[in-house]
Amino acid sequence: MIKYNFHSHSEFCDGKEKLEDYINAAISKGFKAFGFSPHSPLPFENEWSIKEENLDSYIKTAQELKNKYKGKIDIYTGIELDYIPGYSDDFEKITKNGRFDYRIGSVHLVRIKNSPETWFIDGKEEFFFTGIDKHFGGDVKKAVEAFYMQTIEMLQTQKFDIIGHFDKVKMHNKERLFSTKENWYKNLVNITLQEIKKQNRIVELNTRGVYTGKSNEYFPSEEILYECKKLEIPLMISTDSHMPEQIDNHFAEAYYMLKNIGFTKVVTPFFEAEL
Ligand SMILES: [Zn+2]
Ligand SMILES: [Zn+2]
Repeated sequence: MIKYNFHSHSEFCDGKEKLEDYINAAISKGFKAFGFSPHSPLPFENEWSIKEENLDSYIKTAQELKNKYKGKIDIYTGIELDYIPGYSDDFEKITKNGRFDYRIGSVHLVRIKNSPETWFIDGKEEFFFTGIDKHFGGDVKKAVEAFYMQTIEMLQTQKFDIIGHFDKVKMHNKERLFSTKENWYKNLVNITLQEIKKQNRIVELNTRGVYTGKSNEYFPSEEILYECKKLEIPLMISTDSHMPEQIDNHFAEAYYMLKNIGFTKVVTPFFEAEL
């Protein structure tokens, strides 16, 4: 089993420790490769993204580690780009001059039409539910549709390599206000998958929701992974770790899940590995 993780957070954003602590953990667990992916800077106060003025220091620190650990582990300087229409910078502007080795594109905040407000799908559970009432008049279908439409807009207008946790909108719901088995929901997932396929992006099987207890399933769900297989969409495993001890959480489980579904390999931006 070739171990790697390209979705990780550190003290530069909302993770806990120094970059080097993650590398030491990765080496001790026999990883082939490790990538850092701080949350991209945003033009408003928040608790999770890297500050614009710390980007150079992040890139420099990652470069020093690449040199120091050369031959022991392959290190990559990535970024998790937040797409919020009207707020986030164009991904090309943030990633100018090829300063990052790879880019994850993610939606955490859904922009409300004709309003400066957003619906936070990845914050406290309470905000998820109050947001549906406040911004969508309690219409959960409208809310979920807005999430997937923003995801599709990101796919169509922004350049990136990996789509982050693309069905995360289900996380706090836990099959309560809607079921992911309903046809309207499946249709939204399907049109998103068609766009992912068309744009040739990599889907990550993100294990974080399960090991934090926030979700009963991985992002995306097993059912969606079967669709990915049918469409021959490239898949990789990510743990979205925020602490060094999380870097391989549920990696083996995800590995065997993909194998059982029929995937024969994983595809990362830098290498392919047989399953
Ligand atoms: Zn994310
Ligand atoms: Zn993340």
